[in-house]
Amino acid sequence: MKFNENITLLEPERSVWQVIEQIAYSGMQEEAFYVLDIGDIVRKHEEWKLKLPKVEPHYAVKCNDSMMVLEVLNSLGTSFDCASKAEIAKVMQLGVDPSKIIFANPVKQASHIRYAANAGVATMTFDNETELHKIKSLYPSAKLVIRIRCDATAAQCPLGMKFGVEVENAFALLETAYSLELDVIGVSFHVGSGCSDPPVFHRAIQAARALFDDAKRIGFEFTLLDIGGGFPGNKGSSLTKIAEVVNGALDKFFPDGCGVKVIAEPGRFYVASAYTLATLIHSKREVKNGDGTHSFMYYINDGVYGSFNCLLYDHAVVTPIPLKETATTKKLTTGTIWGPTCDGLDQVTGPVMLPEMEIGEWFVFQNMGAYTLPVASTFNGMPIPKVNAIANESTLLMLKDVPSLNEDNFKGNDMPNNLLAELDLSEQNRYHVDQQSTSSSLA
Ligand code: PLP
Repeated sequence: MKFNENITLLEPERSVWQVIEQIAYSGMQEEAFYVLDIGDIVRKHEEWKLKLPKVEPHYAVKCNDSMMVLEVLNSLGTSFDCASKAEIAKVMQLGVDPSKIIFANPVKQASHIRYAANAGVATMTFDNETELHKIKSLYPSAKLVIRIRCDATAAQCPLGMKFGVEVENAFALLETAYSLELDVIGVSFHVGSGCSDPPVFHRAIQAARALFDDAKRIGFEFTLLDIGGGFPGNKGSSLTKIAEVVNGALDKFFPDGCGVKVIAEPGRFYVASAYTLATLIHSKREVKNGDGTHSFMYYINDGVYGSFNCLLYDHAVVTPIPLKETATTKKLTTGTIWGPTCDGLDQVTGPVMLPEMEIGEWFVFQNMGAYTLPVASTFNGMPIPKVNAIANESTLLMLKDVPSLNEDNFKGNDMPNNLLAELDLSEQNRYHVDQQSTSSSLA
């Protein structure tokens, strides 16, 4: 396994927060930056295996296509959900077997279907008749998965208005697939990303079961259920509620031994909390309000055209946390936080109550790993924040021991005998939080 980006060893007892302090107060850091905690991804995978043991995760690459994230997940043994030929290419570059990829985009461009056919990525979703004709002409032996619509009553990003055949029309679509002699192997759905309606998974799995039964009447023998994404990923959130609903519904509608493989396409679950963003206040304006009070406008070096595109596209809500602990003891005043570009739209948050902050101080934003970096642009010439990946020794050892890192099982090209040999563990890459580094600050 070869990491394309560097991982730095996190020494025992050091926290992500201390690493951020170390970098921010190094006296050399002016750009916004991320700290990526690889251990957080590993812990998420442990949580998944514990709480949803019967569901094979296919990580949704669109959520965060960092090579390092993909390499870590591959080494943990997850499969992948790709939406395009570029995503398929990226995942296959890691040596992932095409049978571990689902092309989960119900409306695919012709060139992308041809690419999947050449690459042997056979499993793909559809939700309409014209897509069936397209697949018939470009990849007639594909293994098809019908995507039905079943929307959560509340979701951060609803998807049903664009994708998923209405349940009442699904049977007719299957009849068309049958008449075209296409091989439909199962049912998928996506209840909406950032779902806050766990019972929707029961409704969706029940609807899928009914379609499995209907499909039998046509002559299909389905073997795959894909329960999509929608799982929470932020710090403090838990998979427990959704997992209880999913496990209950699977026991009822797809009991053990029924011959159906169950997969999911989690995106934000795996990466949201692993990324923490630190941004520097480079400018500040005091605003005198009509009533004699005043508020502050803070300008930071990342905004809606960079990482905070998630405010627009992912309907995210972000919380600024002052990096300096002493800031939190200050009197609160109203503040707004703005991105670095010349666009008035480029506002990160506010008005919110904040301790008064100074130029050169840092705001930290947690849970910034999902639907941020893949969409970020350099509009106005503003750089996209660099990612500093960290992992402690036990995480690195765990990654080394997972089955897909075992030479016998690994199908990639670059499989070294020793993962640690691939990592840069030289002394200068170890983070120490010492007096000198925490007391210096950017002038
Ligand atoms: N699968 C598909 C087809 C999607 O469109 C998405 C997100 O838009 C995902 C999976 C990932 O969803 P989530 O991040 O909510 O897990």
